[in-house]
Order: sequence, then C-alpha cells, then structure tokens
Amino acid sequence: MKVLIIGSGAREHAIAWKLSQSQYCEKIFVAPGNAGTAQFATNVDVSITDFEEIAKFATDFDIMMVVVGQEAALVDGIHDYFLATEYLKEILVVGPCKAGAQLEGSKDFSKKFMQQYGIPTAKSQTFTTDNFDDGLAYLQTQNYPTVLKADGLAAGKGVIIAQDFEEASFHFKDMLQNARFGKASAKVVVEEYLDGIEVSAFILTDGKDYLLLPEAKDYKRIGEGDTGLNTGGMGSISPVSFADDVFMQKVKTRIIEPTLKGLQSENIPYSGFLFIGLMSVKGEPYVIEYNVRLGDPETESILPRIKSDLFEMFQALHDHTLGQFKLEIDPRTAATVMLVAGGYPENYAKEKEISGLDQAKDVHVFHAGTKLNHDHKVVTNGGRVIAVTALGENLHQALEKANTAASAITWQNRYFRRDIGFDLKALADK
Ligand code: ATP
Repeated sequence: MKVLIIGSGAREHAIAWKLSQSQYCEKIFVAPGNAGTAQFATNVDVSITDFEEIAKFATDFDIMMVVVGQEAALVDGIHDYFLATEYLKEILVVGPCKAGAQLEGSKDFSKKFMQQYGIPTAKSQTFTTDNFDDGLAYLQTQNYPTVLKADGLAAGKGVIIAQDFEEASFHFKDMLQNARFGKASAKVVVEEYLDGIEVSAFILTDGKDYLLLPEAKDYKRIGEGDTGLNTGGMGSISPVSFADDVFMQKVKTRIIEPTLKGLQSENIPYSGFLFIGLMSVKGEPYVIEYNVRLGDPETESILPRIKSDLFEMFQALHDHTLGQFKLEIDPRTAATVMLVAGGYPENYAKEKEISGLDQAKDVHVFHAGTKLNHDHKVVTNGGRVIAVTALGENLHQALEKANTAASAITWQNRYFRRDIGFDLKALADK
C-alpha cells in the first residue's frame, strides 16, 4: 500500500521510519518532508494546507492512506475534504475531521467540553471584546500566577503565565484589543494556574475504542534547568517514572474514557491520535490541553518504544478493531535530544552544513529543519534541526547515549540542552 505523510518535522520523519518497517507499506511519500525523509521516502513539494494539490497527488499516485502529522491541516479540515470528495472517500485518513480537531483548534471549545463532561482541568472563563470589562474585573479577583490563553492556534506562543494583575491586564488587552495573535486571540481563556509536573498521554482512537501508547514528558524551554523562552520542544523522554500504573489508571477512567464518551454524546466522530497534555498535581491528573495529533519531540521517544507494526495499528483504527489489538511496548527508556540552530526560538541562520550525521552510533537520527542543498549536502533549514533518540536499559543509559550522539552532530552555532530528563533522574535518586 502507498502512504502519504503530511508534515516536515522530526515527528513525520519518525512516523515515516516506523511505517517503512511494515511489510504492508509498499511506498512512502512525505509532503513536504525533509532531508531525512528523502533517504528512504519520496518528498513531495506541496503545501500542507493546499488540499486540492494533496488530493490530486493522492489520486495520481494511488495513495491508500494519509497520515496527518501536523495540526493546521486537521483544523482546516483535510479529513472532511477527503470525505466530501467521491474519489477520495475510500482513502484512510489518520487524523480527525474539523469537528474533532476543535479540541485543539479552540481552547474555549475544549474547556467547555471538559467542564460539560466532568473532566478534571483548571477552572477557567472565556472573554471577548464584548465582555472585556468583565474580564478585567475577573483578572482582579484571581490568585497569581494566572494563565491567559489565546483561543486559537498560535504555534505554542499563545499562552502567557502572568505573575500579577498588571502583567495579566497588559496581555489581556494586547490579545483582545490589539489582536496580538490575529483571529486566534479574538477570545481569551483565563485559567487558574496549576502547580505540578507535566506529562503527556497519547491514544490512537476511533472515537470508541483506543490504544494507550507510551506516555512521555517533553522539555519546552530553551535553557537548561527549564529556563528562558518557550520552544517547540527541546527533548523528551519515555516512560515517565511518576506516571505509574495508579496514575495512568486515573488518566484512563477520569480523562480518556469521559473524553471519548463526550465526543460520542456530541456526535463528533474521531479517528486518529489524541494527545492529552496533563499536569500531575500531587498525583492527581488534570488536563492542560488536547492536541489532535502526536507531539514533537514526544513522537521521537514514543515510536521507537512501540514494537507493534504502525501500519497494522492504522488498519485496526480503520476496521474498528483497536479493542482487540495487542500493543507491544519495548520496556526500555527512550531519550530524545533536539539539536537546534543557535538563536532559536528567536532569530537564527539557515543553510549551515551539518557534519557528523554518520558518527552518531546506536541511536535514531530524526531530521526536522534540514534539506539537501545544490551540492547534495545536508544543511539546516529551520530552528529545530535534528532529534537524536537513544534507547537504554534505564534513564541514565538512554540519556548518556543520546547526549554522546548529539555531541557528534554539529554545525556552526548548533545548540542542545544537556539536561533533558535530569529532573526525573533527580526524582529517581531521591
Ligand atoms: P503547545 O503548542 O506548546 O502544546 P499551547 O499553546 O497549545 O502549547 P498549552 O499547552 O495549553 O498551550 O500551554 C502551554 C504550556 O503552558 C503548558 O505546557 C504548561 O507548561 C503551561 N500551562 C498551560 N496551562 C497551565 C495551567 N493552567 N497551569 C500551569 N501551567 C500551564
């Protein structure tokens, strides 16, 4: 079968790599892909939100499965587009329709959904320019820090943790009155701050049955010790020691199952991955956010731990047999370290030649912002450039292997955090 993957990050490289191991996967295309996916798949130069072009490609090349790695295409309705087009209907699309994608596309929607179905989450209220003054009055009554969130997609930048009323009211005005994030901040969710430790849960679901994938923890800040600006993610590890069986059982019964029941009650069909960002507050799980696709860099830690055939998992999703699927998980620990361009997440240079790619031994090297230049050399083409994933018998081994391999890959001004997973190592050592 021929498969098309939509996206260009290390997440999509990891998905393509995992699918390439399946005997059922005859050929893989990645739109637009990167220099890493070009090694074993065919990159397709098409924009991920140009559904007409994607559809044309899918028909011309006999694609039978489309895996959407990236949220924008889902929120814009790529799955709906395929379902509405006669000759595309039969193609299996992994990723929800627009209605389900609202769980990520609108924080106001997802907060109301959680409130309606009794899913534990931080207390919140939503404001627009119509009730702006009520919003300011509400901010005055809050404990600080408090959290402000732009309703729509804002590339991970739409969340502000305000330390006092002055800071909160500044951002509140900026988002609503100055349209700081355009349409995405036409509504602002004001949310209680949860003091805890984050972990992410992932399921593959047809809206009824689900497979619980390995959990992961990601590291968002640019600086060591989790300091500095937020990024798309600087590393991840899986499994996460504090997300033990007791915790994950709570996640299943209090969060996953009510979420699926809620979708059914709302008549929202769902088919694909659901990523649940959680905060563990004294061992109790609360939902911080839903994402309607896998995370990046969590995918790079999760997929190498899944022994089952990913294509067969997608087939089971399509056939509604996830309930009988036996997911096989590698018990080892995976650690992913993200190598980024110096200056990221602010200004950074591109087109820097990358060396040492073949010196990284016994690890997975997943490309993100890379491309082949005119001389067929691999050069940087984005802020996050390469994800290195190592598997080890324990966290210590995995981190050591990942950091050693990451050191071997370099280019002018490359940077990576050397402390990924250290907080969990410290917890374990206690
Ligand atoms: P991303 O795109 O990075 O997934 P996002 O823009 O969708 O993020 P959230 O995940 O809702 O936004 O929030 C981003 C980060 O802000 C969270 O990972 C968490 O660290 C912090 N955060 C969000 N909500 C809260 C909260 N209620 N209490 C404490 N921290 C929070």
